[in-house]
Amino acid sequence: MRGKKKSLPWAVLGLVLALLWCALGAPLTQSEWEGLPARISRGWRQMPVQLARIFSLWYTPQASAMAQEEAPLLRVYDTEADAVRLLSLENYVIGVVAAEMPASWPEEALKCQAVAARTRAVGSSGMYGGTGCASHPGADVCTDSACCQGWLSPEGRKAKWGDSWQPLEQRVEQAVAATRGQVLTYEGEPIEVLYHAASGGQTEDAAEVFSRSVPYLCSVESPGEESYEGYAVEQRFTLEEAAQLLLAAFPDCGVEAGALPSQLEMVSLSDTGRVKEMRVGNRTVEGVEVRAALGLRSTLFTWETEGDTLIFRVRGYGHGVGMSQAGARAMAAEGDACQTILAHYYPGTVLAQLP
Ligand SMILES: [Zn+2]
Repeated sequence: MRGKKKSLPWAVLGLVLALLWCALGAPLTQSEWEGLPARISRGWRQMPVQLARIFSLWYTPQASAMAQEEAPLLRVYDTEADAVRLLSLENYVIGVVAAEMPASWPEEALKCQAVAARTRAVGSSGMYGGTGCASHPGADVCTDSACCQGWLSPEGRKAKWGDSWQPLEQRVEQAVAATRGQVLTYEGEPIEVLYHAASGGQTEDAAEVFSRSVPYLCSVESPGEESYEGYAVEQRFTLEEAAQLLLAAFPDCGVEAGALPSQLEMVSLSDTGRVKEMRVGNRTVEGVEVRAALGLRSTLFTWETEGDTLIFRVRGYGHGVGMSQAGARAMAAEGDACQTILAHYYPGTVLAQLP
């Protein structure tokens, strides 16, 4: 036993000397011994770089393991693939921004879209107390823009952008990274985010569209949208087409193609000029119902008859509540920052960082 205890320090010393010998590059010849001081001094000077390299090798796997642990995985129901994808929140947001806003738009507008997309996902996700996608139980969100938010897969983005894929992908990734973890909150909770393509100059109060008031979804001005190509459009129907569509939506309304011009009448408008109620034959229906029946781009419309054609002049695109994407683009083009734009369209909200 005593012999073993005595031999241990010698074994350790031998090992240290062997390691030192190897570290010094095992000098054997005269010239190698002579060059040793220079090599030691070079090694000493390079030590910080070597230590940094060793530290980064040690740290990187730890950091990525931590990131993986912390990255919340969303259950995204991909309606096209009919499958659930597990995606990190930030990866999901990249796909939403790509689907919901032209990637060539100003960076500050893309950043607004990223915050809006992230806030909506967080509000819906079970991980943050949400109830998930209403149409697809078991999923946090789906990729149907009519239900949750549009979403483009990496392959879908390549197909959509073609030759411009690289710069556009980079723009979207940058906008998402620049707002990483940022969500809009009201009284400490993620807000109910609604947005639309264009408001037609003034956004709508949620109470007018969804019959419930939300403090931060009130009507605000949205100047500069005129440059948006879908700002104002004409949608034309023959009287026969329009009567059929209206009868399909309101079977007991009693409209007839020949009499249709006299069977349509405005009943009431919202404060922003959107059709709130109108008479269709013998029924009074909501503007949003007429919009859905005829596939109009918004409820901000007027109409007139020319011969046997019914012409709807429609301004804006979408329900008009929350952020106008065209308005966000206009504000960004004027030099407004993402935070200013979001504060304009969602008044009273606070931009917060996810823990
Ligand atoms: Zn959904």
